[in-house]
Amino acid sequence: MANPLYDTLFGRHAGKSTVFLHLPDGATLTHDAFLRLAARIAHVLTDLGLKPGDRLAAQIEKSPEALAVYAACVQAGVVFLPLNTGYMGEEIRYFVENSGAKLLLCDATKAEALSPLAKDCGALIETLNGDGTGTLMEAAKSKPDSFGTVPRTADDLAAFLYTSGTTGRSKGAMLTQSNLLSNAQTLADYWHFTADDVLLHALPIFHTHGLFVATNTLLIAGGSMIFLPKFDLDQMIARLPQATTMMGVPTFYTRLLDDPRFDRDLTRHMRLFISGSAPLLAETHVQFEGRTGHRILERYGMTETNMNTSNPYDGERRAGTVGFPLPGVELKITDPATGATLPQGEIGQIEVRGPNVFKGYWQMPEKTAEELRADGFFITGDLGQVDSDGYVSIVGRNKDLIISGGYNIYPKEIELLLDDQPGVLESAVIGVPHPDFGETVVGILVPSPGAQPDLEAISAQMKASLARFKHPRKLVILPELPRNTMGKVQKKALRDQFGDLFTTA
Ligand code: ATP
Ligand code: MG
Repeated sequence: MANPLYDTLFGRHAGKSTVFLHLPDGATLTHDAFLRLAARIAHVLTDLGLKPGDRLAAQIEKSPEALAVYAACVQAGVVFLPLNTGYMGEEIRYFVENSGAKLLLCDATKAEALSPLAKDCGALIETLNGDGTGTLMEAAKSKPDSFGTVPRTADDLAAFLYTSGTTGRSKGAMLTQSNLLSNAQTLADYWHFTADDVLLHALPIFHTHGLFVATNTLLIAGGSMIFLPKFDLDQMIARLPQATTMMGVPTFYTRLLDDPRFDRDLTRHMRLFISGSAPLLAETHVQFEGRTGHRILERYGMTETNMNTSNPYDGERRAGTVGFPLPGVELKITDPATGATLPQGEIGQIEVRGPNVFKGYWQMPEKTAEELRADGFFITGDLGQVDSDGYVSIVGRNKDLIISGGYNIYPKEIELLLDDQPGVLESAVIGVPHPDFGETVVGILVPSPGAQPDLEAISAQMKASLARFKHPRKLVILPELPRNTMGKVQKKALRDQFGDLFTTA
């Protein structure tokens, strides 16, 4: 094939008058209209001088046009580099500079502020707004609506995705055509996606979840998407009855459950709800099933590898686990100190190998060598264990592991106990520097609405349930946990906030 990713995801829908996107205002876009839009954009990119392999950094709002930029990049052989819409000036400079992007695409409201930065980095700047207007689409209007697809091989880079920056500075993960293709095919098969599926899509498209897991999987199956610019409860409630599947982060599910309008009737036509990007609480599982009769399917992935594991489509979807390694993905649990494989049941670092694993971090050969072993296994940075039935569960991040007085403490074990205490909605456990123990445990509690957790009683309960070295030395209350747009708890921010509890008088 001339361009495997383009041909498989997009090209094969050429000429089809079937609906691809259902838009918030009720309008629709057919597969064919979408491809013609993408072809016009591909012409603009080539006219601007972008060559195969060049990077296009896009900090743009979600819209059909924004998605068409992704398709245009694939068709023109340009490496698509979407950026979180929350990033500000100097943060963007890092991505544009680091990636050596040739073009920065942004909202017109940001263009003035970003122009000097683009110039410094030697990048062109064009605009694309959330409503589909901007200089890019102006130029695209007069272009032909077919484009000679640029040949690529499966090993060529298709996208650059910066990691979320939860544990440190974001790293540019280089993803090849075959990384994306293999995962899309696997997921479409595993989750039984067909051309009849209508995916309720309210995720951002700058992250692997909304862009690859959701969109590529749906494209390969040939279905359609209800394409909402963001998670909006009214829109979700209005659109759910038209959907067959939904992918979301855990906060989507908890927000739906908080809405009294969300009931069994609304989800009657649904065949599958999928959750990922952050842990789904067991309580959410139970509540969701009670309210709708549907059991959420939880899966686990990351920027560098797309999806690694999934709970089964048929069979038990086990709460607190992320299911089994996907077909073609090998997963092992190793000792962080020695790299040796650990016996079943033990906690260690999660390593994965398979066609989904990325090519390395852009311009970070040392970091790449550290995390991507010569034998192809990628050290994910997550800690986990596999139960006797083969279900994988994530215990936390390697970087969040607390070492207190020489003991390893996994925050999740304590968080699960704290979450169960009266008046506690959720919790986060962190390690903070301590003069005697190196680190010690601090528990941060978010009260349930209207509740006032009894810190003394909770502390006593912790002492009764946990070994001494695991007792939280301090419990503090926060109205909410700091989270990023994907719903991930920002433990680094918590460690910064509470880091000097024991080290300054
Ligand atoms: P960085 O690598 O820059 O620190 P990040 O790891 O948060 O940021 P992403 O690639 O967006 O960047 O997120 C992947 C991580 O999300 C995984 O390594 C894992 O820790 C977490 N994750 C994904 N799915 C799940 C899940 N179902 N349960 C628990 N954690 C999950
Ligand atoms: Mg990561």
